[in-house]
Amino acid sequence: MKMSTKGRYGLYSCIQLAQNYNKKLVSITEIAHCIGVGEKYIEQIFSLLKKGNIIIANRGKSGGYSLVNSPSNTTVGQVLRAVEDNLRIADCIDSNCASGKDCPTRYLFSTLYDSINGFLDNITLEQLATRDKRVYLDNSATTPVDADVLSAMTPFFGQIFGNANSLHDYGRQANKAVAHARQQVATALNAKPSEIFFTSCGTEANNWVLRGVAQAKNSKGNHIITTSIEHPSVLNTAKYLASCGYRVTYLSVDKYGKVNLDELEQAICPDTILISIMYANNEVGTIQPIKQIAEIAHRHNVLLHSDCVQAVGSIPVDVRELDVDFATISAHKFYGPKGVGALFIRNGVKIDRLIIGGEQERNQRGGTTNTPAIVGMGVAIEKAQRNLIQNSNNISNVRNHFIDRVMAEIPYVTLNGHPTDRLPGNANFSFEFIEGEGILMLLDFAKIAVSSGSACSSQSLLPSHVLLAMGVDIVLAHGSIRFSFGKYNTLAEADYTVDVLKESIAKLRLMSPLFVLKEGEIKNV
Ligand code: PLP
Repeated sequence: MKMSTKGRYGLYSCIQLAQNYNKKLVSITEIAHCIGVGEKYIEQIFSLLKKGNIIIANRGKSGGYSLVNSPSNTTVGQVLRAVEDNLRIADCIDSNCASGKDCPTRYLFSTLYDSINGFLDNITLEQLATRDKRVYLDNSATTPVDADVLSAMTPFFGQIFGNANSLHDYGRQANKAVAHARQQVATALNAKPSEIFFTSCGTEANNWVLRGVAQAKNSKGNHIITTSIEHPSVLNTAKYLASCGYRVTYLSVDKYGKVNLDELEQAICPDTILISIMYANNEVGTIQPIKQIAEIAHRHNVLLHSDCVQAVGSIPVDVRELDVDFATISAHKFYGPKGVGALFIRNGVKIDRLIIGGEQERNQRGGTTNTPAIVGMGVAIEKAQRNLIQNSNNISNVRNHFIDRVMAEIPYVTLNGHPTDRLPGNANFSFEFIEGEGILMLLDFAKIAVSSGSACSSQSLLPSHVLLAMGVDIVLAHGSIRFSFGKYNTLAEADYTVDVLKESIAKLRLMSPLFVLKEGEIKNV
C-alpha cells in the first residue's frame, strides 16, 4: 500500500484542524500556509474530506473549516479512505480472479489489508496531533538547515573534498564552488564578489572589523563609536580595544531601542575612525536607520560598519542602498550551516588582517577554506533572498497573531522593542512578578523552545544589557522572554504556545509573593 501525496496532505490538514478543534475555525489559506502547498490543492482535498463527512465548512465572515467529530473520535483510516482513490494493497483482493477464495496469495493480501486498516483505524487524529509535539521559537539564536542547503553541501563532504587553494583538479572543483557561493552572497547583498570575505562566523567578522580598522587607522585616530545594545562580539571587542588605549563611545538608545541621530553626530570627533551600529537587534528586533547613520558618518569622513547578522533573510540588506563600508553576516541565522560567516568590505577600504596565516581569501584571512559551509551559505542566502517577502509576510502574520493573543489574554505584560520598526519574527515580552528563567523552564517542559535574554547571555542569569539600556526596570528585565519565529512556524504552534504560556505564567504568579501582594491590593480597592 502506498499513501499518495493527496493522502499525506489530507492527513496534515486534518491534524491542523485537530489542533484547532474547539478553538477556532481554520481557513484554507491558513492550512495552505502551514503545510506549504497551494490553496487550490487544499480546496480539492477539502472537497473530498467534506464528501467523506470528515470536515465541515462554516460560511460567513469569520468562517472556515473544522472537524465534524472530535479529534479523539476521528481516525486516520477514516481520513485516508475519504481522500485516497484506492487504499488497496493488491488488485487480487476484490477481483474475480479464477483461483477464487481459496487462492493463498489472495488470502495473504486480504489479511494484510485488514490488519493495515485495523491499524489505521486505531490511531486517532488526537494521538497524531499531540505526538512528539515540539515548538521551536528560538530562530534568532539559530535556524535549522534548509533541506536544499543540506543537499547542496553534502557532495563537498564526500567526493568534492579538495582544498580550494590547491592547483589540481580536486582543488579547482572546490574553488569553483566557493567562487559561485561568493557570487551568490554578493548578489544577495548587492555587492561585488571581490567585496565578500568568508569567515568562520559573525563573531569573527565583527572582531575583524573593529580590530582591523583600529590598527589600520591608528595614525588617523583612536576613537570608536558604537551603541550600548550591540551583540557581545562587538561590545567585548570594543572593551578589549579600550583596554589597549582606544576610546569608545557607547550611544544610548530610547525606550524602543533606537539610537538618537543627534547624539551620534555630536559624538563624532576628528579622531573618530569607526562607527559600528547593528542593523537589527538580536533581542528586541529593533531596526536602526542605517542609511541615515551612513549619511552622517560619511559627511564626517568616518567609516561605518553594520552588524547585519539578524537582518539578512528577514529584511532587505542592500549594502549600496544602506551605504555601509562593512557589513557582517552569519549563515546559521538564515537556514544555512553554523560555523560560516562573511564580511562585506567596500572596495578600496583599508583594514588590517585579523587571522594571520596563509594567503586564503585574497590574502586577507588565513585558514583552509571551509568549502561545504561556504557552499551552504551561498545556497541559503540565495533562497532567503528569493523568498524574502513571502517568508517575512508569513512569519509576521504568525508573530502578530501571537503578540495580539498574548497582549489580550495575559495580564501585566509589556512588549519590548519598537512597535513597527522590528524584525518580522521577533516578539520580546516582559512578564511582571516572575523570572524569565522560570517561564523558560516551564515552556521547555512543554517542549517549547524560547530564550530568556539573548542566547548568548541566557546562561549568565544577568538581566539583558539591551533591555537595561532601553530603560526597562531591572525587575521587569528579569521577567523577559524572547520568542523568535521562523519560516517553519505555524499559527497552530503560536496558539499552542499562548495556551501553555498562559498556564505557566498563572502557575508562576501564584508562587510569587509580589503578585499575591498586588492582587491583594487590587481586591482591597
Ligand atoms: N551579531 C548578532 C546581532 C548576532 O545575533 C549574533 C549571533 O547571535 C552574532 C553577531 C554572532 O554570530 P555567530 O553566531 O555567527 O558568531
